Amino acid sequence: MISVQNLSKHFGGIHAVDNVSLTIEEGTITGLIGPNGAGKTTLFNIVAGVHKPTSGSVFLNGEDVTGLEPHELFAKGMLRTFQIAHEFSSLTVLENLMMVPADQPGEDLRNSWFNFRHVLEVERQVYEKAREVADFLEISHLENEVAGNLSGGQKKLLELGRTMMVDPKIVFLDEVGAGVNRTLLQTIGTSIQRLNQERGYTFCMIEHDMDFIGRLCDPVIVMAEGRVLTQGTVEEVKNNEEVIEAYLGVG
Ligand code: ATP
Repeated sequence: MISVQNLSKHFGGIHAVDNVSLTIEEGTITGLIGPNGAGKTTLFNIVAGVHKPTSGSVFLNGEDVTGLEPHELFAKGMLRTFQIAHEFSSLTVLENLMMVPADQPGEDLRNSWFNFRHVLEVERQVYEKAREVADFLEISHLENEVAGNLSGGQKKLLELGRTMMVDPKIVFLDEVGAGVNRTLLQTIGTSIQRLNQERGYTFCMIEHDMDFIGRLCDPVIVMAEGRVLTQGTVEEVKNNEEVIEAYLGVG
């Protein structure tokens, strides 16, 4: 689905991503791990269009998408979650969900701007979709709560909900489990698994919690010092000498 070829990103003298090649297969939940400063976030940001690479290419289903803007990749079904922006924190959970399609009006909505009844119909559909998403993520009881009052884990669920509103094909999650309590981590993990199995979402996720990774991800790609060290199941990478050394060397 995604193929990264000889990708590099240099910040001055720092080789944050250094000649990386990897693939993310359709239908997988691929984990991306590695010690601090390994280049994981930089790689994510290049693939999602936030940074331009110094060199190398990114292909999405065989199409060269290197250097496209995030909204262009979004239109192709590729999405990177971001924290709820400050200006959305005073909106309710349901409003936050409903904002997503409104941020990205489709041709239908734009062309029929003068067609009031059509706009109302689209709004009704968006509302129903938002309620269905809240129900799926077990946050229906929080629908009318303002986002700023949610716990860290509930905010992560809402971020996941915002991606669900646009039915993406591939979602990039950056530390979705960080700072989340065990119960909500369970809900987030189950939601990711269900979205993968029942709705065919492909996920690529940066994560530090090895138990969480072990439960969800296959394969796991390990990065260190800007390069891909190895790839395999969690058990395989955990027992890989180079991986153990990379973690001990930095830690
Ligand atoms: P962490 O797990 O700590 O988030 P990471 O694997 O995501 O780490 P990156 O954040 O991609 O690693 O950073 C890789 C290297 O690139 C680090 O040395 C970092 O300091 C450097 N770096 C990242 N972004 C920039 C930037 N905008 N300007 C300069 N250096 C940067």
